[in-house]
Amino acid sequence: MTAYTETQIEQMKKDDMRYFLHPTSSIFDMESWGGPKIIEEGNGIRVKSVEGEIYIDCGAGLWLNNVGYGRTELAEVAKKQMEKLFYFQTFNGYSHPLAIEMAKKVAEMIPMDNPRIFFTSGGSESNDTAFKLARMYWYLQGKPNKNHIIARTKAYHGVSYGALSATSLPGFWDGFRPLVPAFQHIEHPHCYFCPWGKEQGSCNLECAEALEEKILELGQDNVAAFTAEPVIGTGGAIVPPKGYYQRIREICDKYDVLFIADEVITGFGRTGKMFGMLHWGVKPDIMMMAKGITSGYIPMGAVGISERVFTLIRNHGIFMHGYTYSAHPVACAVALKNIEIIERENLVANAHEKGKLLRSLIRDLDLPCIGEVRGLGLMNAVQLVQDTETRTMFNSALGIAKRVSAIAWENGLALRPLIDDGLQLSPPLIITEADIIELVDKLGRSIEQAQREFLGNPL
Ligand code: PMP
Repeated sequence: MTAYTETQIEQMKKDDMRYFLHPTSSIFDMESWGGPKIIEEGNGIRVKSVEGEIYIDCGAGLWLNNVGYGRTELAEVAKKQMEKLFYFQTFNGYSHPLAIEMAKKVAEMIPMDNPRIFFTSGGSESNDTAFKLARMYWYLQGKPNKNHIIARTKAYHGVSYGALSATSLPGFWDGFRPLVPAFQHIEHPHCYFCPWGKEQGSCNLECAEALEEKILELGQDNVAAFTAEPVIGTGGAIVPPKGYYQRIREICDKYDVLFIADEVITGFGRTGKMFGMLHWGVKPDIMMMAKGITSGYIPMGAVGISERVFTLIRNHGIFMHGYTYSAHPVACAVALKNIEIIERENLVANAHEKGKLLRSLIRDLDLPCIGEVRGLGLMNAVQLVQDTETRTMFNSALGIAKRVSAIAWENGLALRPLIDDGLQLSPPLIITEADIIELVDKLGRSIEQAQREFLGNPL
């Protein structure tokens, strides 16, 4: 059932192409499909298109929908707060009860000692805030040259200029240079494609040692911070090896460099623990959050600031930075209720369990082009390769992951290809065993068909 006639859908697609510039979408692809895929409704882990077709949302939107679609509780608290006080500023010494409650709630949840919380409207703003805090921290100590920020290849930290300068994925910098100065990148850890040619468990964590080398190259008096997604998200759901962040923390402490964790995706349960860094037991000096903080029901982000960093700001007396929508009352109301649902329904434990099941069922498919099935909790990717023995990738121009996604759409999955032939599997944290079985069956059939097309015809 759909509320739209074919003519209306046709017109909507035309209007979309005429008026709407989409973020990070191939306009050529959209033209070749005759317009975008239009989603009009969601329920649980599924969404419905205007044509009335149902899809499992394999990506939880953009890694954000932890509690699933159709939560009327969230709509109700938003309505109530809009009617009571839809907005007041938190600049100039003003506050409101829900901002205070939300700051306290987040401060007590995150793995940091005695943190302060700053609010934003999303991940890019949280990243810019974190980088400004890191630079200001050293500036206030009379070390304005200690301003380099080291990030990693395959990082995604957002697209505002500061965040973009930390991001390092193909295409994102093209046409936008010059970037913000003094951002540097080291190789990201990925055991399956280890750049040092080592095997997991028999290496010296060269990927972590790369940070020490970079700090020595730049000079420790020039480095403000190292920033990392606990598990790389958009770059491919890549989990670093055991011991990686413990070693990173040691190196940061040795050279007096702040450690910043971008928990925009990993925060609020996605990896099977409430925060990603809990897998390594390492506390960051600054932490970015967004997405799962409201499950995306309303835009919101936050930054956790350790006592070490806050003390300097406090003594200085002001943080000259803020967004109109910082601590928006409606966002705070939704976030508090969203976190209550995550806790009440044990969604973090479900993410852990269902993630294990998902990975094991995909491995059981035993398909010749599935190289690596990786992830933590419900933050996962399937790596397609041409040859699993040699871990040789397909010619990227062929776009096998994109082809799988197109077939998966026909099979009822909204499935996104990640760069380098990964497939994103990060459904809402409410997913059940039956849903996972259905998802893996549809995924398997989609990969098999693409595999026949690609491996059946020698390249
Ligand atoms: N950091 C990470 C780890 C992200 O995954 C994202 C978004 N995918 C961002 C930052 C940027 O967030 P936003 O799009 O809300 O600005």
